[in-house]
Amino acid sequence: MTDTIQAVPAREVKLARSWRHRCPGPVRLLIAILLVGIAWGITFGLRHLIDAPSFQTPFFVCAIVLSSWIGGAGPGITATLLSIFAIEYSFTEPRYTIGFTWSEVPKFTVFFLAGGFISLLARRQRRDEEALLVARESLEEKVCERTAELETANVQLTAEIAERKRAESALQRLNRAWRVRGMLNRSVARSADEQELASRACQALIRVGGYQLAWLASADNGVVRAEAHASVSGFQDKQEAWAAGGTGHTLAAKSMLAGVATACTLRDRSPDLPKDAWAARNGVKAVLALPLISEGGIMGVLMVYSEEWDAFDKKEADLLQEAANDMAQGIALFRTRAAKATAETALKRTQEELERVARATTMGELTASIAHEINQPLAAVVTNANACLRWLDREPPELDEARETARRIIRDGKRGSEVLARIRALLKNEAPKHEPLAVNEVVEEILALTRSSMTDIVLVKNLGEDLPLVDGDRVQLQQVLLNLVLNAVEAMKDTEEPQKLLRLETRLTNDSEVEVTVADTGPGLAPEMLDRVFTTFFTTKANGLGMGLAICRSILEQHGGKLWAESDPGAGATFHFTIPLNPP
Ligand code: ADP
Repeated sequence: MTDTIQAVPAREVKLARSWRHRCPGPVRLLIAILLVGIAWGITFGLRHLIDAPSFQTPFFVCAIVLSSWIGGAGPGITATLLSIFAIEYSFTEPRYTIGFTWSEVPKFTVFFLAGGFISLLARRQRRDEEALLVARESLEEKVCERTAELETANVQLTAEIAERKRAESALQRLNRAWRVRGMLNRSVARSADEQELASRACQALIRVGGYQLAWLASADNGVVRAEAHASVSGFQDKQEAWAAGGTGHTLAAKSMLAGVATACTLRDRSPDLPKDAWAARNGVKAVLALPLISEGGIMGVLMVYSEEWDAFDKKEADLLQEAANDMAQGIALFRTRAAKATAETALKRTQEELERVARATTMGELTASIAHEINQPLAAVVTNANACLRWLDREPPELDEARETARRIIRDGKRGSEVLARIRALLKNEAPKHEPLAVNEVVEEILALTRSSMTDIVLVKNLGEDLPLVDGDRVQLQQVLLNLVLNAVEAMKDTEEPQKLLRLETRLTNDSEVEVTVADTGPGLAPEMLDRVFTTFFTTKANGLGMGLAICRSILEQHGGKLWAESDPGAGATFHFTIPLNPP
């Protein structure tokens, strides 16, 4: 509070005493003498008109009454004595002599007593008047003092009320700013992305903060743009706030550059402020620019418009800046999340691509055996077709034999197309499709594909009978098995022929999964390699990718199974994998 409360000065009490009361004693005596003189003069002047003895006293009585009224008892008695002497001297025979006779004594005694009585009455009245005056004076003085006190108290009270109103409105604004902050924090938690957060924040400033207009400014190559905005209903031409060169545009740009909250009221008449006409139309009186600052720098500016002159004092602006900081953290979080999601998508795409490449590479290694696989049914088709022709050329044609060879042609043709279908499925980049699978079928399909590359290898098959179905993707399990079998074949490349042995086993373990084992008699794996072989890009082969076992392990983990290796170095390697049963 800056107003100074000044005491109201007490009013001067004007004394209501008349001139009679203010006259000093000698003057009052002089007046009495003068009045007696006047009475003497009138009586003397009129003595020829009415020369009765009763006419001698009335004017002197008047003089005595007036003297007593004006001067009190002293001047009254003086006037009485002077009157007695004047009457005796001028109007009693023998005239112009002073000589009281005994016959005059009663007359003058009565006159003296009457004069004295009048004087005493006058004195009493005068005293009463004076007492009354003193009482009135002190009363007036008190009234003036009380009035001055009341006026001072009134001034203080008015100032206190104004101060209290100011404090209350400041408190209300702070309260609103707190609520805005809480709402912004909730908006961060509830929003799905940056855009939703910006729009919720603007809405919160209008609905909870009671402001007129709010918009979020972002700078794109130095151009200020409104990302989101909200206003009270009936707000006109809000786009003027962010239009280039428009209202608030410069303030937003400045705040963005400086990185500090900037508040202005229209009273400042700053060129950065909204145009008066636009502001008046929408009841805007103050503007606040809040930069959104995070570790990465300034992400934008939150612009808030109020209809109150004294809005955005330091406390309110500080609190709103803290709310803006919380919002900036939220935006930074959304941006990090978006960047992470993009990176994850890119990573997934790369992984899928790598898997496809790995499959293609595996298939490249299979080219020779595929050619062999296709060649066999094709050669059989040609042989059977020739045989069929020969049976038909016979006389008479051997139709039954020809029919039988035609059937064999069909069977071999189907075999060829099945091989091609399996290869195509492996090369395709299709999404995994879980279904109930017989593991032994998958094993047989892979053996059919790889048979030609195992001509010098003894195959020991030990497939469990009546195995329950497992839950899996056929192509992915084929891929796992193919990779393990080709690795085993590759590992036994330098092993002496009689010892080249590939063992394939399937069995049910603990009633919940099927275990598949692929064992070879290659050089095996050193103990420290047992885990390393599953890491991505680990390879000991000149043309290897080092992706096969890593992909196999990830496929099995996605199926809820496991893949691990065992080995006695020099005695070959054994790979096991498990796969859960298809739930009944
Ligand atoms: P790649 O075959 O492209 O090298 P893999 O992930 O399939 O990739 O295999 C990784 C490495 O594991 C191989 O380079 C090899 O050193 C080793 N390895 C895999 N299978 C066997 C095996 N049966 N016997 C010995 N070493 C093996």
